[in-house]
Amino acid sequence: MAKKNEKKSEAQLLREKLFSSKKHAGLRMSEEELKNCSVYCEAYKDFLGQAKIERQAARFTVAEAERNGYVPFVKGKKYKPGDKVYYVNRDKAVIFALIGKKDVHEGIRIAAAHIDSPRLDLKQNPLFEQDETAYFKTHYYGGIKKYQWPTVPLALHGVIVKSDGTTVEVTIGDDEGDPVFVVTDLLPHLAQDQMKRASSEIIRGEERNILIGSMPFRDDDASEKVKLSIMQLLNEKYGITEDDFISAELDAVPAGKPRDIGFDRSLIGGYGHDDKVCAYTAFSALMDVKDVPDRTALVILTDKEETGSDGVTGLKSAYFRYFVNDLAACFKMDGYTVLSMSECLSADVNAAFDPTFPDVLEKRNAAFINYGVCITKFTGSRGKAGTSDASAEFVGKIRRLMDDAGVIWQTGELGKVDLGGGGTVAAYIANLDVDTIDVGVPVLCMHAPFEIVAKTDVYQTYKAFGAFLK
Ligand code: MN
Ligand code: MN
Repeated sequence: MAKKNEKKSEAQLLREKLFSSKKHAGLRMSEEELKNCSVYCEAYKDFLGQAKIERQAARFTVAEAERNGYVPFVKGKKYKPGDKVYYVNRDKAVIFALIGKKDVHEGIRIAAAHIDSPRLDLKQNPLFEQDETAYFKTHYYGGIKKYQWPTVPLALHGVIVKSDGTTVEVTIGDDEGDPVFVVTDLLPHLAQDQMKRASSEIIRGEERNILIGSMPFRDDDASEKVKLSIMQLLNEKYGITEDDFISAELDAVPAGKPRDIGFDRSLIGGYGHDDKVCAYTAFSALMDVKDVPDRTALVILTDKEETGSDGVTGLKSAYFRYFVNDLAACFKMDGYTVLSMSECLSADVNAAFDPTFPDVLEKRNAAFINYGVCITKFTGSRGKAGTSDASAEFVGKIRRLMDDAGVIWQTGELGKVDLGGGGTVAAYIANLDVDTIDVGVPVLCMHAPFEIVAKTDVYQTYKAFGAFLK
């Protein structure tokens, strides 16, 4: 047994000085910080439970921003330090900006996250009846493991634009007392053939039909009586006819609120942590900036990341560039000069090491839950395909920023080399000549109907954005 005050050996001292050492955030955070962390995470859970789809996340954050003094951005207006503006792109993506003391051409600080999550979208002709049961046809959105989605209670969120041009909002399945919907699956007793299918085929695309009703319209002569009674209900509630589905966006998402996980309540389970957890931490950090920052601070919450960032509300769209151009024009500057001098934290979740499946991650370069915000120099797959690969200089700068602010952070890449990989919006912002690096919260069960994050990591990510944007 070692004596208590035994002198450390030379090797021990040298090791402490030279080797990297990381510790569980639960051992590094003070009691007070842990308390703040759990209070903060309650607010996050509230957001996550209300923002199931991008439209809801956009609306939630805009309402919150307005309470904090943010007003719609006006092109050509003269802005001064401390002014707070926001811009909404088609109800699905939002940019918030807090004007800083320095000229925008000295660069702005950008945090970018996405507010869409994998789910089952309804097809444009979704409604059908089969053997006196009514269903919606679906087309999945984003990368999902298809076997995970049957027998999960689903809620339906979205909008329907009717033939007269008016829009009705649909939100059903998440309020206490609401009915829910479900994709059915076979009983194991009769699944011998199904279980022989490849796992990606266990529930095939055209088998992911959502059960929505089973009572017939009471008239012996009518055909498709269940479909008719469903359509009658929908017409009474939303004033729609079947053709109105063509101009609808209806998303089936896991029903229910986020829940604490574990006896110690240290984790949060819920739908859509990817990437509402980075969206919320970035957004709330901006809202909590107390003093006027040196550099203009900007948070983008974008759409369509899960399908590749294409489309008008995705980050490959010019909307972000146009906004920066318009902002620069308010100060009689060029947008490109602003961008070239700017820096961005591209905020998206990373894969957390799962001890049950240790083989897919390389432990020296994997993110762990409760080890803080994950800083990722590069993403991509194979030979870093599709990455933006932050420069050593920029990584160094961010590292110092985190350390100076007492942020608990780690580094990690998504999976072993050659095993797969992934990308985020980082490359699209970096392509605009903006120094960009990936940061985010490590997630277990990413893209599953119920994803898991650790509360300490959520809080450290919030702190990281606070340090960057302030
Ligand atoms: Mn993501
Ligand atoms: Mn994702």
